[in-house]
Amino acid sequence: MTAAERVVWKFGGTSVGDPARLRAVAERLVAAHRQGRQVVAVLSAMGDATDDLARLAHDLAPHPHPREMDALLSVGEVVSCALAAIAVQALGERSVSLTAGQAGVHTDGAYGNARLHRIDADRVTAALDAGAVVLVTGYQGVSDTGDVTTLGRGGSDASAVALAAALGLSHCDIFTDVPGVFTADPRLVPAARRLDGLGHDEMVHLADAGAQVLQPRAVELAAAHGIDIHVRSAFTTEPGTWIRKDPSMFETSTVTGVAHRRRDPVYTVRGMTPATVSGALAARRAAVGAIIRDDGQVRFTVPGAEPADVVAAFAAVDADVTVRADLASVSVVCPAAGERGDITTRMLGALERAGIEVYLVTSTPGRVSGHVADGLVEHAARALHEAFGLDVPAVYADRPGAVVGSGRAA
Ligand code: ADP
Ligand code: ASP
Ligand code: MG
Repeated sequence: MTAAERVVWKFGGTSVGDPARLRAVAERLVAAHRQGRQVVAVLSAMGDATDDLARLAHDLAPHPHPREMDALLSVGEVVSCALAAIAVQALGERSVSLTAGQAGVHTDGAYGNARLHRIDADRVTAALDAGAVVLVTGYQGVSDTGDVTTLGRGGSDASAVALAAALGLSHCDIFTDVPGVFTADPRLVPAARRLDGLGHDEMVHLADAGAQVLQPRAVELAAAHGIDIHVRSAFTTEPGTWIRKDPSMFETSTVTGVAHRRRDPVYTVRGMTPATVSGALAARRAAVGAIIRDDGQVRFTVPGAEPADVVAAFAAVDADVTVRADLASVSVVCPAAGERGDITTRMLGALERAGIEVYLVTSTPGRVSGHVADGLVEHAARALHEAFGLDVPAVYADRPGAVVGSGRAA
């Protein structure tokens, strides 16, 4: 007898957002189970449950203790998993929901942004072998002291990838509310196109630049463990986007896409040095993007951090930080973008022609980013998407005849 195929499927907040959607997920799990597969589903909290819980805490205290925040924020995933197990049982199959502690997900003790240490998957595999559909809470772990930790916002993606690695799988499926990874956020840029495939590196750059569809850490984890990720719609059975080890053996010059990040502030503090600024952030597991010392003050960005967490990091060292909160960032993601002045030149030219002022430009090997007024970020993303030939149907000028982004990982 050949061993049953094991799958790890992750469903995001919108995909389990109400009882009807939870039931649809349960039906999908049951169908796979009845086809003979051993199914592990990693769920996020329902809809905006995590945001709602955070709001409750902030109504009570400006800087709640990180331990209690994690105890609180991790609850949403417990609810969705227990409900999904109930829904699977109602369909006549065995099912068990497991919290991170029960599923053996161990992390360090850095509340709010804990690092995964290991997964002891024995209980998960025993439940699978006993014929159950197994629901595992995303986003959470337990520290050595037995306290609940969370893996950073969007962290259920990392939970799923880590579980797939712990179970020795070669890939995991991430079901979400769009049919795959697009050349830009399809909700913002209607001309965006779904990519059939892209490399882990490209996806890390897109996610780092704000493309919310995957948590950057999850993609890094997948790259490190050789896990392919299939991002696909929770509402259809269509194939989506495959994220794999860089599928091309050649250096490519195609632009992968445009990403944006709303509310990406520039911060200012006085009376600190770049080193002490960086230290205050590092103590909270956050890192500066750009940092400039100028006239007795230090200005800096903290890509991907919640502004409230940055303010809390400076409150903890008794420093007052000023937040320029009316800014967002928009990025062009392209392998070797940072070494290619032409990408920056074309990007700035396109924004200038669109009448959009750029406040700060930063570049890394995989992307060039510009800070613009938050109210103009949609306009900026569309202008860049068009300027780089990404609108449907597109042929990128650098590589005549090549259709940008599609089919490379086929
Ligand atoms: P989930 O709750 O399933 O984890 P998220 O809200 O975290 O879903 O991520 C999905 C969202 O990511 C989509 O609804 C879409 O608006 C946004 N998004 C941003 N950039 C992209 C992109 N390049 N491709 C696809 N979706 C994107
Ligand atoms: N529920 C958590 C969040 O909203 C984790 C996740 O959805 O991945 O960030
Ligand atoms: Mg998400």
